[in-house]
Amino acid sequence: MLQEIHSAAEMQAIALALKREGKTIGLCPTMGYLHAGHLSLAKAARAENDVVVMSIFVNPIQFGPNEDYAVYPRDMAHDKALVEDCVDYIFAPQPEDMYPEGFHTEVAVHELTRHLCGASRPGHFNGVSTVVSKLFNIVQPDRAYFGQKDAQQLAVIRRMVRDLNFPLEIVPMPIVREADGLALSSRNRYLSAEERQQALILNQSLQAAAAAVAAGERDAKKLTDSVRARIQTMPLAEIDYVELVDEDMQPAEDISGWRLLALAVRFGKTRLIDNIVLEAN
Ligand code: AMP
Repeated sequence: MLQEIHSAAEMQAIALALKREGKTIGLCPTMGYLHAGHLSLAKAARAENDVVVMSIFVNPIQFGPNEDYAVYPRDMAHDKALVEDCVDYIFAPQPEDMYPEGFHTEVAVHELTRHLCGASRPGHFNGVSTVVSKLFNIVQPDRAYFGQKDAQQLAVIRRMVRDLNFPLEIVPMPIVREADGLALSSRNRYLSAEERQQALILNQSLQAAAAAVAAGERDAKKLTDSVRARIQTMPLAEIDYVELVDEDMQPAEDISGWRLLALAVRFGKTRLIDNIVLEAN
């Protein structure tokens, strides 16, 4: 039976009791308005842990002053119905409980946050690493599940776990897409029909880049220029960035070893991100 917990202290007491009983805990951190991408995390957690906790928290400190914190979609009834078969606890704290008066601590992962979303959303990743640290301490997970959809976030959390010796495993999960290729995102609901149609260019341009790499292209500038050119054929698309980076999220000049081709593009008021891993075979 799915239980909804709103207090950090209560969640932590439950988690510590479960640990004393020798139970393993899987955590899926989310901001809610759940979709099949979130569900894939919960299902993986269900298969690998005794107890599954999904956090649903629209984290104010990871939003910039002109971003969509106030209007970010929220629907707890829908979220509970979607995950009730694979989640034991939904942890949905209030912002005042997570950040009481006098909260003055921040966790910052440097270098990996210099480019991509780290450059276009100043302070965003400090908000992410701070809240995820808190969630790890509250929920005491053995495993935590993160989507490759937010590839830079995944890299930042992995580095934080390594650097700060969090005793848990980070499990990366592949990007879940709509049948037409659009990566699932809670923010897709902001898109008009026309914007949504034009947004298909994101996955298409990433796929084209993968095909170019398969055909022998190795040059970062040629690859990113061609992705940009494709996206710019869509009149409603406004590119934030298109970049090729290495596993430290630093700009790469060519395809040699693991590479991430990542992009952020605005359609109207909606900023979408997507990416693909490219490797020379
Ligand atoms: P969010 O609620 O957007 O903060 O996302 C919560 C978690 O779900 C993050 O680890 C995301 O990377 C992951 N996630 C979001 N969208 C997808 C998707 N389309 N496929 C796989 N994972 C996703």
